Amino acid sequence: MQPAVFVRRPVLNLIIFSFLAYSVHANGADWPALYNTFIDKVRNDPQQVLDDLSELQFADAEHIAITSYIKSRAFGALALHEKARVSAREGLSVLHDDNRPLYHYLQLARAEAFDGLGMAQAVIDDARHSLNWARAQNDPALLNYALSVNGYLHITLSQFTEAQTLFQEGYQRPSEKPKAWHEADFASMLALVYEYRQESIRAIQLYEQAEAYYREHEIQLELANTLFGLGKNTIGLGNSDKGLRYLLESADIALNIRDLQGAAFSYEAIASVLIEKGMSAEAVPFLDDALSLFSQAGNPFMQIKVLVEQANVFIQNEQAENALPLLSEAANLASGESFLQQKIAIADTRSRAQAKLGDFEAAYASQLESQNERRLWLEQVNDQRILELQTRFEVQQQKVQNALLQEQNLRQQNLLENEQKVRQYTIIVVLLLCLISALLAWLYINSKRHQRHLEKLANSDGLTRLLTRRKTMEDAEQQFQLAQRHNAPLTVAIIDLDHFKHVNDTFGHQTGDDVLREFGKLAQTHFRKTDVLGRIGGEEFLFVFPHTSANTATTMLERFAKEVSAIPHTLAVEKLVVTLSAGLVECENYSGLKQVIASADHALYEAKKAGRDRIIVAQSSQE
Ligand code: GH3
Ligand code: MG
Ligand code: MG
Repeated sequence: MQPAVFVRRPVLNLIIFSFLAYSVHANGADWPALYNTFIDKVRNDPQQVLDDLSELQFADAEHIAITSYIKSRAFGALALHEKARVSAREGLSVLHDDNRPLYHYLQLARAEAFDGLGMAQAVIDDARHSLNWARAQNDPALLNYALSVNGYLHITLSQFTEAQTLFQEGYQRPSEKPKAWHEADFASMLALVYEYRQESIRAIQLYEQAEAYYREHEIQLELANTLFGLGKNTIGLGNSDKGLRYLLESADIALNIRDLQGAAFSYEAIASVLIEKGMSAEAVPFLDDALSLFSQAGNPFMQIKVLVEQANVFIQNEQAENALPLLSEAANLASGESFLQQKIAIADTRSRAQAKLGDFEAAYASQLESQNERRLWLEQVNDQRILELQTRFEVQQQKVQNALLQEQNLRQQNLLENEQKVRQYTIIVVLLLCLISALLAWLYINSKRHQRHLEKLANSDGLTRLLTRRKTMEDAEQQFQLAQRHNAPLTVAIIDLDHFKHVNDTFGHQTGDDVLREFGKLAQTHFRKTDVLGRIGGEEFLFVFPHTSANTATTMLERFAKEVSAIPHTLAVEKLVVTLSAGLVECENYSGLKQVIASADHALYEAKKAGRDRIIVAQSSQE
């Protein structure tokens, strides 16, 4: 073991204790700074972190969650994904509040572990959720971690564009704290995307940026990983010597920090290059080392790969019999559905070994087996592709449908709004029309009323409010005609107030006017609306009573005369006497109104002559 590991140890413990002391009251505020210090250690020497943590025992949930997270990250760094998964699960099981950074750190660590186990699809949603949470919280450290985890998941799912977008975002974010997440970290992630896309030149440029940073800051694990990437891409470009040097250095560093698989991956890659160059003898020790390291780490996929490569070396070297036990060992490891590709390689290699040994029947059987596995594998891939396509198709369909629905909604909404507007306008217009009609009606009625008022004024006498002479004559003529046509009784009376000159002379012209006004009022209340009541001279009146005989009219006039005689009392003028004389004619036998009036005048004259204050009915027609 390297002495440096022991030198680092107390420093690390100190960090752990101060970290845990803070974390008791931590609700995110103290977390990122200490977390960053700590994660640097994980990225430098994860095995050392695991050793240190194994000495600590905690009973409270908070500490269990934090140490579980760190353990999960450390296991993950060493490609021990199952252990990483278990640790993350332990941490999550003691946390009940999902609205805090620690929960999301754990969820992302769990996603990373699943990714390592080849189950990226199962955790992609969780990882995305944590990424969104980090964005919403504006937590830079968590956001960086979430970007990296989500990016790697997309790489596993062959969604390189998505991966690149996320890594690019991390690459361009300002690194707020030194040694936290650096641009270089995202440079190495982006390099991986380019590596997968077989754009080696661009990948190498980015890896070199990361390499310089990791060397300067002595971040061992990441340096080893970066050198591995540099090695593979340099070899890919044809420079195998330089590539091998990178791989060897990567393996050295990995061993140094006890990253067994890190070293094993490098050894396996070195061996592949050597075999390709025809140097299988030189490749053998690397394959042996890689196999033992992968076995220690418990990585069956890589164990199988190395075993098959070893078998191929034996076949090349005409030692096919030695290949068969290796292939049986590999076949034992490859149990279950997730090893189909490995099973194909095993069966193919076994077939070749058997053919080399002359056992063609067995070789044929192995070939059949290989074909069968290949068929199964293709089916699996197709199923997956179909599923993927189906999902994409459904998503697309849903999108189209949503867009359609949205458009429909919008159109319907517009329609509704328009209808509503039209309805509103209609109501307003109708209301306005009603208002205008009402106004016009009011104006019309008012003007009519005004007209009638004017007519009445024009047709009525200003003092007595009875009809004017002209109107009286018109109406009297009309009534006379009607009575003639219908052969109805009609009585006409001419009334004259007695000694009115004397009234004026004795009590004043004003009192005379008062008497006349009172007379008009009495006439209007006493007689019917249909009777024609007119003033035809100063104190001389013509009354026409339709449908009335002379007798009835006489009775009515007598009663009226009585009321008239009470005027002085009403006016409270002492010694004033008001009486009337009247001449009455029933029109029955008259052919014209003129004669009627003349006859009535005559009767009046008779009344005056007979001493006034009386009513005289004309005896008969003059004709
Ligand atoms: P008698 O009819 O009983 O024979 O006598 P008299 O005094 O009424 O006679 P006459 O008909 O000749 O006079 C009418 C008088 O009525 C003349 C006038 O002074 C008066 N007179 C007419 N019109 C008015 C009026 O509008 N106001 C007043 N105060 N007096 C009026
Ligand atoms: Mg008179
Ligand atoms: Mg007179």
